[in-house]
Amino acid sequence: MKPYEILLNDNKIWAAKKLAEDPGFFDRLLHVQTPEFLWIGCSDSRVPPDQITQTKPGEIFIHRNVANLVVNTDVNLMSVLDYAVNHLKIKHVVVCGHYGCGGIKAAISNGDFNQVLNMWLRNIKDIYRIHRKELEAIADEEKKVNRLVELNVKEQVFNLAKTAIIQKAWNNEQRPDLHGWVYDLHDGIIDPVIEMNAGIDIDPLYEFHDL
Ligand SMILES: [Zn+2]
Repeated sequence: MKPYEILLNDNKIWAAKKLAEDPGFFDRLLHVQTPEFLWIGCSDSRVPPDQITQTKPGEIFIHRNVANLVVNTDVNLMSVLDYAVNHLKIKHVVVCGHYGCGGIKAAISNGDFNQVLNMWLRNIKDIYRIHRKELEAIADEEKKVNRLVELNVKEQVFNLAKTAIIQKAWNNEQRPDLHGWVYDLHDGIIDPVIEMNAGIDIDPLYEFHDL
């Protein structure tokens, strides 16, 4: 069997097992999607959102990219955010990074990763620059990367709060709450690093007054 054929085969086994355990499983999910959470995570294959949170199909809306960035010119992410907040009415947005993130490591190296990836990683270099003093005081390279992983997650949560999508929902419906988490590949545990409840004050520079 070719590697991709194993996936298709395992899919059939999974579907049959689900049906055997719960005959209404697929019927229930067919007509309704009401997830409470939007997850913005890293594309890293070792951080599968539904497995590490034990959420089931229908419970978590997911967007993943390299190093879990919230870039306000990213049409892909902004569409997901808009849909999740305004149509699915999700109550929580989680940005989840992970220690040892390859995207973060690449960003603080001086490697040339070619145009598109360089462009993406620049967002992380900018966060390093803001926190340069703290980061350069950390001698151990792994610890430095991991601290930047945490700072990156915080910055991405701030980036969410800066969007009109989030501010409008905060004004009108007092949701969603924003959460920044970091997953540890060593023990599978998620550490919360920041929480912004709906309506919390943000830097006035980024506030929209005429929403
Ligand atoms: Zn990563």
